Amino acid sequence: MLKILVRLYLVIIVAYAGALLLIPDAIVGAFHARFMAYNLDQTKGVQSLIVRQFQQAPREQWPAVAQELAKDFAPLEVQLLAMDKAELDDEERARLEHGLHAVRIADWGYYETVLAPLDKQWLVRLHSPPDPLDINVLSWGVTVLIGAAMLGCLLLWVWPHWRDLERLKETARSLGQGQMSERTHIPPRSNIGELAGVFDTMAGDLERHVNQQRELLNAVSHELRTPLTRLDFGLVLLYDEVPATARKRLLELVGHVRELDELVLELLSYSRMEFAEQGRERVEVSLLELVDSVLGSFAEELDGRGIQWEVRSENDLPRFVLDPRLTARAVQNLVRNAMRYCDESLLLRLRLEDDGACLLTVEDDGIGIPAEERERIFQPFYRLDRSRDRSTGGFGLGLAISRRAIEGQGGTLTVAQSALGGAQFRIRLPAG
Ligand code: ADP
Repeated sequence: MLKILVRLYLVIIVAYAGALLLIPDAIVGAFHARFMAYNLDQTKGVQSLIVRQFQQAPREQWPAVAQELAKDFAPLEVQLLAMDKAELDDEERARLEHGLHAVRIADWGYYETVLAPLDKQWLVRLHSPPDPLDINVLSWGVTVLIGAAMLGCLLLWVWPHWRDLERLKETARSLGQGQMSERTHIPPRSNIGELAGVFDTMAGDLERHVNQQRELLNAVSHELRTPLTRLDFGLVLLYDEVPATARKRLLELVGHVRELDELVLELLSYSRMEFAEQGRERVEVSLLELVDSVLGSFAEELDGRGIQWEVRSENDLPRFVLDPRLTARAVQNLVRNAMRYCDESLLLRLRLEDDGACLLTVEDDGIGIPAEERERIFQPFYRLDRSRDRSTGGFGLGLAISRRAIEGQGGTLTVAQSALGGAQFRIRLPAG
């Protein structure tokens, strides 16, 4: 916004300076005859007085008269000049030859030099020298003050636009972060009232669509769970009744049904996480205990697969206020992925940063994530090609759920390259 103000002000100042330079000359040029006539009228009286002073004295004394007048008229200059040395243009020469005085006009159409004939060979020149420095400074001071006054007016005009545009920006940001009920509340009388109105209508439409989709997803997921449970139960009951040759096939079917059930559960948690911020708890917990309890649920699998794991705490960790359920959910997903994709080791690190934030990293020595995919893997259902094989992965919802769980607490979840060779997921939770 400041940029707009500065640019607008610069444009105005440059236009103003350009206009000051060009317009007076253009006007004086266009109305030259009128300005000449006006200045000739203005100088007529003084000129005839000066000329009379010369004519009252004999010709030999004219230099002395000129000196006397120069003293009286200072700082204006009075000079006695020979006609042929006066560098006259045709128009001036013609006027002087007819016994008339001539003027030379300068800036803003005011006269600078007045020439009057004394006889056929001599003329008297009255010249205004340039303004002294202090007067020049004062004139520029006036221009600067006009510029400052224009800036003041501009600020007065821009301020309400600034305030309303900032409000629009904040609302757009909140909407982007999922706070769908946010509106600009900019009154219609504002200069951007119409734009804000359209924006609010769009926000309302978006909120309605998102809610409809969420409700549909929830309803479908809930509705799917009951028949899936029945199907699972029914298939298991059939086990003893089918011939031995069909049992393998039946168990495969049970596996598919359970996978589907798992997907529905994941979908439900993903859509619930959308409200993570509203429903979050604030509990003071020991981070080490939290991480230990998450790892505890994987201990058997980790040991069974011979994976080496370590929890490292980089400084003395005081207790930290967070939502234990959401945080544990995120860490669980990260540890599960690290287990899936590591070669043989995974490492969890905990650190309290200088600003009181907590940094928790989960890293492994596996294949890692290519730099260009690092943002995309947090999108729901996004899976890297190499993990399409169901045996290495889930549904592509784990990281999306983890990110929502952390962002719901005002934190961030990002991924980088680990020094171990694989991926390093970084959870950063703010203090308080
Ligand atoms: P999934 O349930 O398929 O693992 P996620 O959302 O948890 O879904 O992960 C998305 C994708 O990110 C995975 O398919 C996988 O390719 C990649 N990924 C996640 N964690 C790791 C990791 N530790 N190392 C390498 N790739 C990973």
